[in-house]
Order: sequence, then structure tokens, then C-alpha cells
Amino acid sequence: MSASHLLQRPIYGGAFGDDGRYALASVPCVSRGLHATRYMVVQAQAGLVLSVSEDKTEALALARQRLSAANDKRQPPKLSTEQGELWPDEPLLSPVPAPAPYVSRRRREIFERSQGLCHYCRTPIELFGKWHIEHQLPRALGGGDDALNLVAACVPCNLRKSDSTAIEFVTQGPGAA
Ligand SMILES: [Zn+2]
Repeated sequence: MSASHLLQRPIYGGAFGDDGRYALASVPCVSRGLHATRYMVVQAQAGLVLSVSEDKTEALALARQRLSAANDKRQPPKLSTEQGELWPDEPLLSPVPAPAPYVSRRRREIFERSQGLCHYCRTPIELFGKWHIEHQLPRALGGGDDALNLVAACVPCNLRKSDSTAIEFVTQGPGAA
């Protein structure tokens, strides 16, 4: 296991030191034929593993030592040597995969018909980003859900448009209050 591999993972157990220079990390391992956990103090930016222990208490003591040593080197000392119980129960190497972004077919169609731009102010919008499906003629004024009445609108335009019709809105200008 290389330290650089660690850098790409969220580090449970948390950063410590005045600038988050050190971090506590745990990784699953096999020790004497049994599944175990290895607790490490790492210096993430430098990609260093400073200590490895199979005992959580010992690892915390090593982390405190590291902090005390850093304190002693600096004048005036500004690091806290207080270190709480930071180890979590989750192992480091089982991150929950992020869910794939989902967008409905209707939303994708409206996005494509609007060519990825806000219908009103032509600001580029992102398919998976925050934008609104707009009724050009508001429902309140009898506008329907048919494709021709639906356009993509950026958040500011959506908020400004409110219940005016698209023609009123465009006449006033998207920047108008
Ligand atoms: Zn807009």
C-alpha cells in the first residue's frame, strides 16, 4: 500500500495539526492470517506514512507524540496537543460510491432543445446542474405541459420570471426586477 494511494481516499479519523498537516487513517489488512485493521498517522501533503500500528490506542499515542514534536519545533507553540478519540468504526478503504447523476428523459429533452442554454438569458447551464423547467406560458395562465411550452431556465431567470408570461418577461428583459 503506497501513501499516494491513500491520498485519493477520504481520510476518516480526521486531520490534525495547525494546518491539517497530519491525519489519522485506518486500512483493513491481514495480520497472522486474520483480518485486522492497521492504524496510521500520515502526512498527506508529503505523501508520508509516519507510523503504522495495529493497535488503536498505540496509534493515537503515536499521533500525540507527532503533535508534541511539532509543537516543540515551533516558536511560539501554537498547536494543541489535545487529541480526542477520532478513530471511526468505518475502515478507510470502503468508500461509498457516489450515485451516478440521474436526469429524467423529459428533462434531458428540454435541455437538448434549449441547446444547453437558458432560454431567456442564454447563460450556459449544465445538464446535471441546477436549472428549472419553465412553462413559457405559466400554468396559472393556462399553460400546459406540452413540449413546446417547456423551456430550460437558469435559476435567476426562473426566480425573476415568476408568473409573468415569457413574452412579458422577455419584453421587460431578463435583468428587469
Ligand atoms: Zn437565464
